[in-house]
This record gives sequence, structure tokens and C-alpha cells, in this order.
Amino acid sequence: MQKILIIEDELNIAELERDYLEVNGFESDIATTGEKGLELARMNIYNLILLDLMLPGIDGFELCKKLRQVLDIPILMVTARKEDIDMIRGFDRGADDYIIKPFNPNELVARVKAHISRYDRLIQREQIQNTLQIGSILIQSDSRRVFVNDEEKMFTAKEFDLLKFLVKNPNIAFTKEHLMERIWGYDSLGDVNTVTVHIRKIREKIEKDPSNPQFIETIWGVGYRFMKKDSFQ
Ligand code: CA
Repeated sequence: MQKILIIEDELNIAELERDYLEVNGFESDIATTGEKGLELARMNIYNLILLDLMLPGIDGFELCKKLRQVLDIPILMVTARKEDIDMIRGFDRGADDYIIKPFNPNELVARVKAHISRYDRLIQREQIQNTLQIGSILIQSDSRRVFVNDEEKMFTAKEFDLLKFLVKNPNIAFTKEHLMERIWGYDSLGDVNTVTVHIRKIREKIEKDPSNPQFIETIWGVGYRFMKKDSFQ
């Protein structure tokens, strides 16, 4: 079942959104503060986020930035102020779309559906493209082989999955917990140090100098980010 995260401080609006989504076959979680929303987004897998712009504490823009550091799913902003629209449009690396309060709930559902299917098509297209080349690294998806400077490197299944996930989501900082969940499955009770160990092994294979990595960067206090510089393309 597809799952939506609703971040909205007005509970009656959040419940209206949830009810319409439920009728249309979506499951949803409600967070009434930005902090709670961020926590849920990090702990669960969602297909889309409905994000209210005016929240107490951390506002929608700030929250969107933080969400974007860990997620690439569609984010729909909900605002009551028409004057925010230009800001939403101009917002760098931000929302995928916006909707103005008061909104027609059926239109909201239609937009949610459209964004989820567009995102799914994007992911599918990426999966069809079999080979990924990033600088000196060549990844063959179907045969699960990795070459560095034309030399084949042996990867375990999880090392391969982890590298591929990071390469496919460049320039996004992922927490170790998030990587654990994506690669080992979210029922995994594993220790996040597993992620650290796998990153170290991957670096030994792909980096010229593993102690000074240029592909997988450590984001202190967060986790890791695959750096896709223009010179790699
Ligand atoms: Ca609000």
C-alpha cells in the first residue's frame, strides 16, 4: 500500500487530507509539528509528503530543505497564502508542486496520484538503464559487476546494493539508519556500524586514497553522501 506523510499543524485539515487519501487507497501518517514530521520521514518509507508551509517552530521551507537531504520522493507544499507561491516556485531543490488552501480534496488526491506515478516511472526508467558510469567507476546492474579503471572489483551483495543506491541518489546525505533500512530492509535489527564497515570496504575498492575519499563523503553527525561532481560526468 502506498503511504503518504502529512505534515500539518491544523488537525482538522490533516484529517480531511487523510480521509480523502484513505478512500482512494492510500495509507497516511499525520505529524502536527515539523520536528515530528522529520522524525517520521527518517523512520518510515513514504511515497509522498504533503507539507504545510506555515508550521509552528521549523517552517515548511526549512523542513523541505532538511527532508531533501535524506529523501528524493515527491513533496507537495500546502499553503494558505497566495503570496507564498512565487517563493515555492523559486525554491531551489524544493517542492515538486503546491496546492492552495482551501483546496478541493479530490484535486489534492489527483495531484498526489500524478506525482507518485511520475516518480515511479522515473525510478523504473533508471532501473532499465543498466550501466552507470561515474568517473573511473563502471557499474553493471544486471550482472552486478563493478569495474574501476577497467579493472573488475569483487563486491558482496550488500556492498553492491549500497554503492548502487548511493550512486543513483547523488549529492544527497543519507543517515546510516536510512541506508540500513534501504539496503538491509526496515525490519532489520542490525547495528548501524554495519553500514560504516560496508562503506569502508567499498572505499577500499573504488577510491584512489580511501582515507581521503572523493566519491563517498562522510557527513559528520549524519552519514554519507555520494559526490557527483560535474567532472565525473
Ligand atoms: Ca499551518
